[in-house]
Amino acid sequence: MPSELARAVKLVVLDVDGVMTDGGIYYGVSPSGETVELKRFEITDGLGVNLMQRAGIEVAIVTGRRSEVVAMRARELGIEEVHQDPAAEKLPIVRGILQRRNIDWGAVAFLSDDLADMPVLARAALPVAVANAVPEICSVARWRTTRPGGAGAVREFAEALLKARGDWTKVVEEYLEEREERADGSA
Ligand SMILES: [Mg+2]
Repeated sequence: MPSELARAVKLVVLDVDGVMTDGGIYYGVSPSGETVELKRFEITDGLGVNLMQRAGIEVAIVTGRRSEVVAMRARELGIEEVHQDPAAEKLPIVRGILQRRNIDWGAVAFLSDDLADMPVLARAALPVAVANAVPEICSVARWRTTRPGGAGAVREFAEALLKARGDWTKVVEEYLEEREERADGSA
């Protein structure tokens, strides 16, 4: 990943299905007859998000499906910009984030797997295709993960981005020191 491009990134936008998950949607029915929708998130991606946030990067979620589990996962990760739009109008959503945060397209990375993301990818300075992305997404991507969505793609990207920026060692040390202090405090 080119370090100049990586250093310019202020906003990382994550798609959910096929990027933060393997794309599988589990349907079930509660005892009271309500439909329940479940997704499986990858735990190592969570620390990847945390490390990017530590480096001062805003991480956002923009998805074309509405699901309570996405809101739950976002809260867990401290992600404020969570947008679930069933119409999958991702471009106006990302434009809104950029306006609110005073960020331009030259500072945007977007992780994608499928065609609905194309209008955003075409504008983002760092379009990223996960390993399971469709060929059209791969062809416009400037970087590709070797791991598929839901199996560490976000973590792999976070590590590559932070290493290319020269931030990796610092944020990992900071994270480990915090863990150490907490362990001392509870001893
Ligand atoms: Mg997707």
